[in-house]
Amino acid sequence: MDLDKSLKTEPILEVNNLKKTFNHIEVLKGIHFTADKGDVVALIGGSGSGKSTTLRCINMLETPTAGDIKIFGQTIDLMADDANGLKVKSKNQLRNIRQRIGMVFQGFHLWSHLTIEQNIIEVPTQVLAIPKDQAIEEAHEWLRQVNLFDKRHQYPSCLSGGQQQRAAIARALAINPDLMLFDEPTSALDPELVGEVLAVMKDLASEGRSMIIVTHEMQFAADVANKVLFLNQGVVEESGTPSEIFYSPKSEKLKQFIRAIK
Ligand code: ADP
Ligand code: MG
Repeated sequence: MDLDKSLKTEPILEVNNLKKTFNHIEVLKGIHFTADKGDVVALIGGSGSGKSTTLRCINMLETPTAGDIKIFGQTIDLMADDANGLKVKSKNQLRNIRQRIGMVFQGFHLWSHLTIEQNIIEVPTQVLAIPKDQAIEEAHEWLRQVNLFDKRHQYPSCLSGGQQQRAAIARALAINPDLMLFDEPTSALDPELVGEVLAVMKDLASEGRSMIIVTHEMQFAADVANKVLFLNQGVVEESGTPSEIFYSPKSEKLKQFIRAIK
């Protein structure tokens, strides 16, 4: 046994037999994977394969129909719910877990009536009760990290898509999350703006931040991820290192997928 490795790795997330049914259609059919601290996991797969639903189940934006999710060492307590299979048992537990997860969506979702700086300090001041001065000081650090310090007093509508997405990343970082979830963060951007957002994410990865990223940017996934999961019709069809997935795919479905995106 590689003792050294077993000491270093520390699972931050364990997804077990995750199932989700929408309107009697099972869209997740038993997803399994783990992520260790510092892992960058890329979720790839065709449209409708269940990538977003998997990501959203991690912070219970969708409640699983079956299975369990262990995150930061604790299993999210779920209980039977007649209509949907399961529901969250403890709002308190969920709140604590969510305060350690940052999420970035395809469509930015910044608050349009707040400046960039106000967007970033909103959760720290209103939810985490961090004093405003301190929250602003910290916001400036996050803004520098995403290269947007100069835009801090602008409203989102004055920013390009790439700038808005970088602001959304800074906002997600403002709770200093233990895990970042990204759902196709560059899919809504004009091609020339994709690079600046990927560069910020690359920085985060190199700092050792744990991240799970749904992406269609295969080169980026190959460069940044240490683990790639290929989802197909609600299951993890294949998983491995980027070189295993992109250069030695085993399953026919993955081979087809790789051929189609080349
Ligand atoms: P992906 O992100 O891989 O494109 P999704 O996880 O968004 O896939 O969706 C998987 C399947 O679940 C799709 O068929 C989609 O239409 C369906 N689905 C997702 N969300 C909902 C919902 N809220 N209600 C009904 N069906 C949904
Ligand atoms: Mg999706």
